Parts: sequence; C-alpha cells; structure tokens
Amino acid sequence: MAVALFFVGHWFLSLFSQTFFLHRYAAHRMFTMSRFWERFFYLFTFITQGSSFLNPRAYAIMHRMHHAYSDTDRDPHSPHYFKSMFKMMWRTKNMYLDILLRRVEPEKGFDKNIPEWPPLDRLGMLWWPRIAWVVVYILFYMLFATEWWMFFLLPFHFIMGPLHGGIVNWFGHKYGYVNFCETGDQSRNSLPFDIVTLGELFQNNHHQYPSRINFAVRRFEFDPTYPFIKVLSWLKVIRSVNSTAG
Ligand SMILES: [Zn+2]
Ligand SMILES: [Zn+2]
Repeated sequence: MAVALFFVGHWFLSLFSQTFFLHRYAAHRMFTMSRFWERFFYLFTFITQGSSFLNPRAYAIMHRMHHAYSDTDRDPHSPHYFKSMFKMMWRTKNMYLDILLRRVEPEKGFDKNIPEWPPLDRLGMLWWPRIAWVVVYILFYMLFATEWWMFFLLPFHFIMGPLHGGIVNWFGHKYGYVNFCETGDQSRNSLPFDIVTLGELFQNNHHQYPSRINFAVRRFEFDPTYPFIKVLSWLKVIRSVNSTAG
C-alpha cells in the first residue's frame, strides 16, 4: 500500500510540476505569479521531479522549438522521425543537454522571458543531488516494499520527468482524435478524459490554441490541471490567467 501511494504520489506531483510550472508557466507564460510563488514552484519542481529534475530554461526553449517546428525535421521530438520512443527521447536528451550546457545558441528569441534561479539551476546540474534522490527512492522501497516485484517500479521513479515527456510527445502526436486539422502538424488528443497525464495529452487542442490555459475544448473533454489553476487564481497565488486566448 505504501509503495502504491508513493508511486502514484510521485507520478502526479512530478507531472503537475511539469504541466503547471514548466509547460504552462515557464514555456508559455499563460499566467503570472510573484517572485515568491515562482521560487516556491521552482523548488516544488526540483523536489517532486527529484532525480530527473528538468531545468525550466532548457525545457522552455526546447518546447518553444517544438511548437515552432511541430512534426518537421526541426522538431526536437516528433515521433514521426523515430522508430521508437526510446530513440526519440535519446535525441531529446542530447538536445536538452546542448541547451542546458549552453553548447548551442537558442534561435529566434526562444530564450526570452523564462524563469531562472541560478543557485538551484546549478544544483540541478550536479550529479550528487540526483544520486541522493535515487538513494531516497531505493531506501523507501527497502523499507516499505512487501513483494520482490515492486522493485521493478524503481526505474520509473529515476526517470519520472523524461518519462512523462516521452509519453506525451509520442502518443500525443501519433494516437487519438483530431479537433483541429488546421494545426498543420500530427498532433492528436489521445484521451478525452486525460487523468493519466493531467491534460497534457490534449496535444491537438494545445497546438491549435497554445496560450489557452484549459487544454480541454469540447464539452466532453476534461483537463484536470485546469481546476487547480482556477483555485490557485482564486487564492491569488497566480494572476493574469489567460483563459480564452488562442
Ligand atoms: Zn506537441
Ligand atoms: Zn506547449
């Protein structure tokens, strides 16, 4: 029971950090927040993604490239150019490291207006904090796992951030239905009720309206992150929520 709760908790907290902070805030700037709350969610992302923390600047630049070049050979992670999700994510990892280590210069102002927190960014680039998180996960399983096979879940914890990215990028541009043909790419809505990736699998809706905070568009669709954003807005944690713009 403890292992199940830990796995589900890590899955959704890490995913929330990715969709709320990295994607909707850092990459798209769909809303604003004070310096305090920005740092709060920066740290929240660092903790919840743990061993696979994704640097907000590198994530945002790569994601802006994805929107600008969606499903062309300049897209960092289009599934239509790779035989497997693993190969696609390996290329994504290399590109991510090039941006993170500033080996390449971002084009077209893709690096404008992205939150940065140099001390935490530097910590996130070191190996020892990642290894420390891995040790924490292993210790948790050693203490609470009741069956031997549960240890096979550990690798998912180690790569939780990129795993979510891989699922969204692969399935969201390959499988599902289309609401908007005019996006000019292969984006799909994989699940009409997307609990499993907290709304990220509404790729077709999102490519049509990249600034729209609610990824669900049609009456039967549900984006679970949207109600959280409404509550955070109501609590004045975030401001200037752009709910309808395309
Ligand atoms: Zn996409
Ligand atoms: Zn996006």
